Amino acid sequence: MQPYSISIVSRMLLVLLLVASSISPAWSQTVQKPKIVIIATGGTIAGTGNSSANTSAYQSAVVGVDKLIAAVPEIRSVADVKGEQIFQIGSESFNNEPLLKLAHRVSDLLKSKDVDGIVITHGTDTLEETSYFLNLTIKSDKPVVLVGSMRPGIALSADGPLNLCNAVVVASDKSSVGKGALVVMNDEIHSARDVTKTNSVKIDTFKSLYGPIGTVVESQVRYDRLPSRPHNLQSKFDIDKIQSLPEVNVVYTHGNMSRVPYDAFAAAGPKAIIYMGFGNGSVPDYIDGVLKEVRAKGVFIVRTTRTGSGSIVRNGETDDDKNDYMVIDDQNPAKARLLMALVLTKTSDTKELQKIFWKY
Ligand code: GLU
Repeated sequence: MQPYSISIVSRMLLVLLLVASSISPAWSQTVQKPKIVIIATGGTIAGTGNSSANTSAYQSAVVGVDKLIAAVPEIRSVADVKGEQIFQIGSESFNNEPLLKLAHRVSDLLKSKDVDGIVITHGTDTLEETSYFLNLTIKSDKPVVLVGSMRPGIALSADGPLNLCNAVVVASDKSSVGKGALVVMNDEIHSARDVTKTNSVKIDTFKSLYGPIGTVVESQVRYDRLPSRPHNLQSKFDIDKIQSLPEVNVVYTHGNMSRVPYDAFAAAGPKAIIYMGFGNGSVPDYIDGVLKEVRAKGVFIVRTTRTGSGSIVRNGETDDDKNDYMVIDDQNPAKARLLMALVLTKTSDTKELQKIFWKY
């Protein structure tokens, strides 16, 4: 054989080797798993009870993130996970301080090329608020998935371990990129904008106005719909530019409503009151004048509903144009509070505020 033909054979062998290594992981380096950071904040998913029959009477926010991860070894086959314990609190205790701290941490982590997605373990009580806030303010399209549980880890039929595993699967899946903050509970994937806790104790408590956007079953992620409202990269709000939030309060309306909460809030000086009215945000005759007085003091009034769903029709139940009120779209009052606080970091013009409310 001529020397030049040896070189042709060895080149062909080299090409074969390269092709084989690209199709067989055994020939190449280990396949890179997505790098997911699990940020633990507390809640029932980190809870423990005295007996395995304690499904609702137990102590939340006790178990640390390393134990949560160790309890679900399946996670390691899906992703390279790193745990971070940012707080150990019940989510009812989230006020603006932990909310902003968490959002800043998420934003910082997602800037790293060593982080492909984030899972946040969180109490279920205010999970919808935290997720909505992150949905609006994090400038990244990498997946951010919030997860909790309704039963503590020690309970019979605990839901936390599978929820956590599913959350990591969803955060690791490329199809979750660009979908906004997600809530994974009970095999369902919800958009942060629409999801609400609807029952105090039941496992299937998280519901979205228009249904979940996807499911995660047997570690298979499936999306059926896309969130249509601005979030993350398309959102006007950027957590890196927000160090504090203006005070916004919600007032629930009921029969024989008193003016005391309005006067108290107006005196305390919040920027806005989310008026949680009956039906289409209706205002009793005897409260009408009170709302006008509060507005005249410079406090914004945003009409919402206590019905649990539906958008508010502007100038429907009251003359919003004349009174200079705003109406929320279909977000619940807790989410309206967060959106109003964010919008007030941008503008105080009620026409502009109303436009943003309809868009988001
Ligand atoms: N109230 C607690 C919390 O929201 C426990 C409820 C739960 O996580 O399910 O953190």
